[in-house]
Amino acid sequence: MSGVHMTLDELRALARAKLRVVGLAPDHADAVAETMVSGERDGCASHGIYRLLVAAGSVKSGVAVPDAVPEVSEPAPALVKVDGKGGFAQLPFERGLPLLAEKARRHGIAALAITNAVHFAALWPEVEAVTQQGLVALAFTPNHAWVAPAGGTKPLFGTNPIAFGWPRPGGDPFVFDFATTEVARGEIELHRRAGKPVPETWGYDAQGQPTTDAKAVLDGAMRTFGGHKGSALAAMVELLAGPLIGDMTSSESLAADGGRMGSPIGGELILALDPKGFLGANLEDRFAAAEAMFAAIEAQGARLPSARRYAARAISLSEGVTIPAPLYADIMAIGSN
Ligand code: NDP
Repeated sequence: MSGVHMTLDELRALARAKLRVVGLAPDHADAVAETMVSGERDGCASHGIYRLLVAAGSVKSGVAVPDAVPEVSEPAPALVKVDGKGGFAQLPFERGLPLLAEKARRHGIAALAITNAVHFAALWPEVEAVTQQGLVALAFTPNHAWVAPAGGTKPLFGTNPIAFGWPRPGGDPFVFDFATTEVARGEIELHRRAGKPVPETWGYDAQGQPTTDAKAVLDGAMRTFGGHKGSALAAMVELLAGPLIGDMTSSESLAADGGRMGSPIGGELILALDPKGFLGANLEDRFAAAEAMFAAIEAQGARLPSARRYAARAISLSEGVTIPAPLYADIMAIGSN
């Protein structure tokens, strides 16, 4: 691929510098840069360094508060709350994680609620960070109302990702992380740019009719995956990471955006469960059973979720990454216009 080759350290330095140049406070810039570098490293281009353009735009348009100071509180013994004060969600997560882990170890289970934060990233970096503490993790976040409930045709839910992480002794954790939609919104956008039709199952136009026109779906409503099942999961994400933690639903978040088309502002819920709390002396035996299940999945020729990411990571760590030339040019222009 034609592009600019960089080590991960060079990429990190570039991302930090570009985020600072648009006015993001250094602690935010470092935390946000880290998730982008992780995405690029793991071959997740849509959540990689391309997101610098999105984050810089969110700062410039006033969607994200650049110097927000996250406020950590403990509403109950097993609960941590971090008010993001309108800034990006990465720093609030970093600030809340140590207390979340400590509480999960003390109580067996704990929850971290991040509120009033701008979330544009993938959830796997966060669940992976929780599994690095030896804990099982679940994470949820709503976003902007782009998705119709099953049986309806008007946007109501966000694309509402769910992520899960299971620590594996001596290996990379078992992690999955996906939106509750039939397909990612970015995929529909790519079809629009390429002038390609989309399958009729991806969404509805603004009149509520099934359509193969990508732009019509973007202006209309996307569909949840799995019919009523994905729809109920999307509603669950709204409830857990919206009203339950005192934050907005995706409809409210879109209304609050006021047409700026910025990254969603709202809540995120992260649960941490301590296997030692449940298993005590039985831990080794039950973790061996989990490993046997993973082996049985792979024995059928199936792959584990995140296996692709870990393979990409191994290559990036030794060889660095290549940023496509047009994207590199756009990144270098940040701060000069
Ligand atoms: P995908 O449909 O691409 O599914 C991704 C997950 O499924 C990954 O864990 C992936 O592992 C795994 N997977 C994919 N193919 C297989 C396979 N054949 N066998 C086993 N596992 C497989 O994800 P989405 O497009 O729905 O979401 C992509 C990202 O977008 C997520 O990280 C999500 O958090 C993020 N997102 C963020 C939002 C926000 O508001 N912050 C909103 C919506 C999405 P692998 O990575 O190894 O391929």
